[in-house]
Amino acid sequence: MSDPRIQLLEKNIRDIPDFPKKGILFKDITPLLAHPESFNACLELFEERCARLKADTIVGLESRGFIFGSALAARLGLPFVPARKPGKLPSKRVRVEYELEYGTDCLEMHEDAMEAGARVLIVDDLIATGGTAWAAKQLVRELGATVAGFAFVIELAFLHGRDRLGDSPIESLCVYGGG
Ligand code: AMP
Repeated sequence: MSDPRIQLLEKNIRDIPDFPKKGILFKDITPLLAHPESFNACLELFEERCARLKADTIVGLESRGFIFGSALAARLGLPFVPARKPGKLPSKRVRVEYELEYGTDCLEMHEDAMEAGARVLIVDDLIATGGTAWAAKQLVRELGATVAGFAFVIELAFLHGRDRLGDSPIESLCVYGGG
């Protein structure tokens, strides 16, 4: 029997077929955000499961990673750092390009976003192919910090995104298609 809090989260994640394009089953987390008990359960589970990682900095990935990452950082009393799409950050940046299904995308962080040697927890709503999370890991390393681990609300396990993240610990709350 799984944790009732996980069941609550799953109940508040809505499947939208063929969004943003045909063949994609979009996992919509807006019902979860609109239900305070679920949002709190999510943060509580992240806090419990990630305590062992001893992170001292939280990085959130644009854009839904900002929602969960910043709330978790405030709850834990840790600094929050946004990893952003190109052209959004005003000061000196580091940048990493990564592969999408078709073409490439890019993530950036401020050069002075964290201390060298920081232990970073990377947070996003969902891991699919793992490209976005992989890019965030490269940025953290470029700044001389260590990836303590990853936290996702949702993992699409059938896409094997975790295989791209090496041996970094990964905590996913709701796992779909794990076989
Ligand atoms: P990836 O880089 O392939 O792991 O994709 C992860 C990013 O794309 C996350 O920031 C998600 O918000 C978004 N994403 C990818 N697939 C989905 C999906 N099926 N439903 C909702 N968001 C998705």
